Parts: sequence; C-alpha cells; structure tokens
Amino acid sequence: AKEDGGNGYRFFTSEMNTLASDRLEMENGLRRALARGEFEVYYQPKLNLADGRIIGAEALLRWRHPQRGLVSPGEFIPILEETGLIEQVGSWVLQAVCQQIRLWQTTSALPPLVIAVNLSGRQLQRSNLATTIADILEETGVEPRFLELEVTESMLMHDPQCAVDVLMQIRNKGILHIDVDDFGTGYSSLSYLKQFPIDCLKLDKSFVDGLPLDEDDIAISQAVIAMAHSLRLTVIAEGVEREEQLAFLRDNGCDIIQGYIISPPVPAPAFAQLVLAHSQQ
Ligand code: C2E
Ligand code: CA
Ligand code: CA
Ligand code: CA
Repeated sequence: AKEDGGNGYRFFTSEMNTLASDRLEMENGLRRALARGEFEVYYQPKLNLADGRIIGAEALLRWRHPQRGLVSPGEFIPILEETGLIEQVGSWVLQAVCQQIRLWQTTSALPPLVIAVNLSGRQLQRSNLATTIADILEETGVEPRFLELEVTESMLMHDPQCAVDVLMQIRNKGILHIDVDDFGTGYSSLSYLKQFPIDCLKLDKSFVDGLPLDEDDIAISQAVIAMAHSLRLTVIAEGVEREEQLAFLRDNGCDIIQGYIISPPVPAPAFAQLVLAHSQQ
C-alpha cells in the first residue's frame, strides 16, 4: 500500500472506510428498525385550490434512530431499495396508513380524507402488489377510495407493460386515485403516459421552484396543466413554499397544491389538528 503516499491518500482511505462502515451500520440499523418500531409516518396536507379545503395528505416515511434522531428518507430509502427491505417496509407503511385512516374515520370528527402512499419500484414489480393492498384494506376495514397511490414517472417507464398490468389490477380492486409523482423529470410524453390507468400528475418541485418568474418553469407548468386537463387528469403542484407560487398556480388552473406554504409533513395528531383548524375557518 501507499502508506507514505501523502495526506490526500490517507485522508481518502479513512474517509472511504468511514463511509463504508456508516453504510453497514445504517443497513443493520434498518434491518432492526421495523421490529423495534422505529419507523413513523408523517402526513403532509394536500389543499384543493377550488375551495381551499384540505382533501387529504401524502404519507411520508420517517426513521427515528435511537442515537441519530429523525433520519430523512433521502438517506435511507435508497438503502431499503438496494437491500430489498423496501418490500417489507412498504407493506408496513400501507398497513400503518390504513390503520390511521380507519382510526380517524371511527374516532375523530375529521371529514373523509384520501391519503396517498408512495410506492417503490420494487413494489410495483411484484405481481402480488394488488392482492397485498387489497388484503391490507380488508384487514383494516378501509374502503379503497380513501387510499391513493403515488408512483414515479421513471418507475412506470422502467417496464411499461408490467406497470400497466399491475396498475390495472390495483384499479380493479377499487383504488380510484393513482398519481404520477415527480412529473416532468423523466422522459415520457403525455400521450404515452395515457396508456397507464392514472388520474393525476404531480408537477415536480423543481418546476415550481422557479415560479412565477422563470420563463422555462412558467412554460413547463402551463403546458403540463393544459395537457393534463385535456387528458382529464388532475394536477397537483408539489413543493409550494411562497404566496407568489400559489397565486400563479391558482391563476393557471392547477387543481391541488402541497408544500411548506400549507404545512411540512407532520405526525398524525398534528395533521388532524390542522385539518380541523382549517375546516373551521
Ligand atoms: P416525494 O415523494 O417527492 O415527496 C416529497 C418530498 O418533498 C418530501 O420529502 C417532502 O417532505 C418534501 N416537501 C414537501 N413540501 C416541500 C416544500 O414546500 N419545500 C421543500 N423543500 N420540500 C418539500 P421527504 O419526506 O424527505 O421524502 C423524500 C422522498 O422519499 C419522497 O419524495 C419519496 O420519494 C421518498 N419516500 C418518502 N416516504 C416514502 C415511502 O413511504 N415509500 C417510498 N417508497 N418512498 C418514500
Ligand atoms: Ca410522493
Ligand atoms: Ca414528488
Ligand atoms: Ca419531487
């Protein structure tokens, strides 16, 4: 080895070791996290621009690490995907969300809400996904119309025929809401997308960021909204943070918004309070 190869090399090696052991530690932590109850679901409201009501939420996974605190999904979802743990964890999320929907329906004064769960590519490739979802809905006593699913554009394009089949099966189980997440970041035409049984496009945050001034973002948002509507799809804008963005989206016919301007993702009780406070305004 190059033991006298200079500081650069030594630094690089020790940094690589740290990263590798970090990663291994994280992987082991994730393997135990389900059993130890360290996963939580946060909820971020979706606001209907037509009447200003909160119509539901997106469920977002959180990992409460005993030492590190709340770990962001950007850090651990890729590891769950690579190790295949995402299948188990994904089922756990579906279960946790359906239990929560049922709890709200039976014990709270909340209006009916539709809650969206993010699916991973691996889940979508499983031929039994529709059955898994239907079983969870039945066990928890939740009607399929209250569960929404989000799949990304790139997940659909990975194996389009498989995606069509699985989504059709899911739809046949009574699921009414399937969204295409991060829309505009992949490489598919809207007309091609139309072969998928979908209802809604989520305009990616990267296009919302530049509103209402960036000319490209204006053109892209307006085009997505117009084309989506001509195909009878709903449009959700994600990552809305500022008043000017909201005003632009409202003026340009966007249907639903999500973002820090309404609320960041919050634990279930805080979300319930938010909905109640909002409906009393
Ligand atoms: P995503 O599905 O695109 O979720 C939206 C992300 O944007 C969330 O990050 C949310 O907290 C964040 N966000 C929402 N509004 C704003 C805003 O106004 N400003 C900014 N800066 N950010 C905003 P989060 O919760 O860290 O999740 C990151 C990604 O992790 C998600 O992106 C999704 O791809 C994945 N993910 C989260 N939960 C799950 C899950 O249960 N299953 C799977 N398969 N993936 C998940
Ligand atoms: Ca999403
Ligand atoms: Ca998204
Ligand atoms: Ca996004």
